[in-house]
Amino acid sequence: MGSEIPRAAWIRCRKCLPGGMSKEAFFEDLERYVERISPDERVSEESYWKRLEICRACGQLQEGMCRICGCYVQLRAALKVKGCPEVHPRWTAQLTPSVDDNPQRADVV
Ligand code: SF4
Repeated sequence: MGSEIPRAAWIRCRKCLPGGMSKEAFFEDLERYVERISPDERVSEESYWKRLEICRACGQLQEGMCRICGCYVQLRAALKVKGCPEVHPRWTAQLTPSVDDNPQRADVV
């Protein structure tokens, strides 16, 4: 009862898939979790897919996880407050509308 692990904590846990859960089931669960993120916290669909495209082409991506921060990129890319953890970020957090709309920063997604 009190020792139950919240479902969201499973998703945030690095590399420790819940016992008996296949990788496919884990990623389906992650996808459902991402879909339930509040619109206030979530980037637009366009930004989300742009971010994931950048991650897909990045050498730091390994089995859906960023090797720098240990996050599953599907989750990190969906959140406005998160950015790429590289020293020279490939995509940045969307903290202010002026940053998002800055034409000088076409890489900002
Ligand atoms: S978050 Fe940044 S460093 Fe990590 S996989 Fe994506 S683009 Fe690469």
